[in-house]
Amino acid sequence: MDKVGINTNFVTISKMLIVMEKLETYSDLRITEMIHERGLRPSVQRIAVMSFVANLRKHPTADEIFGALSEKFPSLSRTTIYNSLHALVDAGLIRELEIESGNRRYDLAPQPPHSHFVCKECGKIVDMKMPPQLPDSATPGYRIDSVDVYFKGLCPECADKKAIIDNSK
Ligand SMILES: [Zn+2]
Ligand SMILES: [Zn+2]
Repeated sequence: MDKVGINTNFVTISKMLIVMEKLETYSDLRITEMIHERGLRPSVQRIAVMSFVANLRKHPTADEIFGALSEKFPSLSRTTIYNSLHALVDAGLIRELEIESGNRRYDLAPQPPHSHFVCKECGKIVDMKMPPQLPDSATPGYRIDSVDVYFKGLCPECADKKAIIDNSK
């Protein structure tokens, strides 16, 4: 696909699915309550993991969570992070996204359904609205529990960089 095609597609998609508005912030107190409501013990590690996923909304991998939190809590082990993540996923507070195979990413679970845009250049993942015309019912006899919609392409920054490089050729 040439650069014009990519840019045009991105503009069309982004007009249709305006990137989700301002992020809500989750205080440690609110997170503690959410964990407690699901019958889990709100340990320091669980609160830290959930706060990182909920407030940054960058869809991190487990390694990225570990990297960021070990700076703040040097005694944290990788196993503790993985265990906390699994407990939060099982409790329905965090959900796993498998956008690239073998590379799980994590997102806050209790939020309105949304789709994801993945930049194939810088790897950034941003939230977008769900496309307006998803089928709302399945083939009879099938029950849909979750719907994952991903768009892939270039984010505005990478599209600009690519346009500059292509123009200078
Ligand atoms: Zn990008
Ligand atoms: Zn998301």
